[in-house]
Amino acid sequence: KLYNHVQDLKGNIRVYCRVRPFLPGKPSNNLTTVDHLDDGSITISTPTKYGKEGHKLFSFNRVFGPSVTQEEVFCDTKPLIRSILDGYNVCIFAYGQTGSGKTYTMSGPKELTEEDYGVNYRALNDLFQISGQRKDTICYEISVQMIEIYNELNGMAVPDANLVPVTSTEEVIELMNLGQKNRAVCSTSMNERSSRSHSCLTIHVHGRELASGSVHRGCLHLVDLAGSERVNKSEVIGDRLKEAQHINKSLAALGDVIYALAQKNSHVPYRNSKLTQLLQDSLGGQAKTLMFIHISPEVDALSETLSTLKFAERVA
Ligand code: ADP
Ligand code: MG
Repeated sequence: KLYNHVQDLKGNIRVYCRVRPFLPGKPSNNLTTVDHLDDGSITISTPTKYGKEGHKLFSFNRVFGPSVTQEEVFCDTKPLIRSILDGYNVCIFAYGQTGSGKTYTMSGPKELTEEDYGVNYRALNDLFQISGQRKDTICYEISVQMIEIYNELNGMAVPDANLVPVTSTEEVIELMNLGQKNRAVCSTSMNERSSRSHSCLTIHVHGRELASGSVHRGCLHLVDLAGSERVNKSEVIGDRLKEAQHINKSLAALGDVIYALAQKNSHVPYRNSKLTQLLQDSLGGQAKTLMFIHISPEVDALSETLSTLKFAERVA
C-alpha cells in the first residue's frame, strides 16, 4: 500500500538553494554577492562586467541562508525520507562549485558533533527510527551501497560497492569511514580527487507487511556531486582536462535529464552519462528528486555562483 506523503505544485522535482557562511580565517572583507535572500528567492548583485548593472533574482522551492542549521535544512527533507519506507525512490543531490558546502550538507564538517550531522546521517536515523516504530506490522531490511563515479568513461566502484545489510546508523558510519580509508590508499591526494568524482551512497529499503506478506521496495540515493566549476582550458592539460570534460558532461547530462522530467518530455536522455544511467530507476516516474544547490558567498565566486544558479533555474 502506498501513501503519498509528499505532494506539491512542482510535482516530484524540487530545488533548494543553500548559501554557506564566510569561513573563519579566509580573507573576504565580508564582501558578498548575495544582495538579498528570503525563504524562496535569492538576489545576486551583478557588477557591470556581467551584463546589465544591477541585480538578478532567482526563485527556488526553498532558500537557506548562511545561518540556517543542519537540523533546519533537514526539516524540509524529512517527508521525502518517510516516503522511501512506503516504497518510493528518492534522489538527493548536492550541486555546486568546490568549497561551496556540498559535503557539509550531505555529511557534515570534518569534525562531527551530533548537531553537525548532515542529510546522510539524519536520513539513516529517520529510516531506522520509523522502521522500528512499524516493526509490529512491517518487517524492514535496510542495506547500503557506496559507489564513486570517477571519470565518466569508467564508472569506478569503491571496493565495497556491494550491498551491505545494516541495522543502525553507527554501522553505516563505520562502513563509510572504511570506504573513505579504502579510497585514501588508492589516491595520494584524496581531497583533490573527491572534488572531481561523484560519490553516491545508496540506501535500499525492503519492507514486507507481516499480515499480507506483500512487499515494497524503496531506495534513497544521496549524491555528493563533483565540483561544478568550469576549468580554464588553457590552464589544464592531459588527464586533468579529460577529467574536467567528463565532469562537465555528466553534470550537463544530469541537468538535461531533470529538465526533461520537469518538462514532462516523452524522451528522457538517461544514456548520456554514467551517473544518469546508474540513477535511471530513481529519476522520473513516481520517484522524487531533491537538488540542493550550493552558493559560496564571496565576490570572487560570482561567475560560478551565477552559473550554479542558472543550472538550477533551468531545472526548478
Ligand atoms: P564542497 O564539498 O562543496 O567542496 P565543503 O562542504 O567541503 O565544500 O565546504 C567547504 C568548507 O566550508 C568546509 O570547511 C566546511 O566545513 C565549510 N562549510 C560549508 N558549508 C557550511 C555551513 N553551512 N556552515 C558552516 N561551515 C560550512
Ligand atoms: Mg566535498
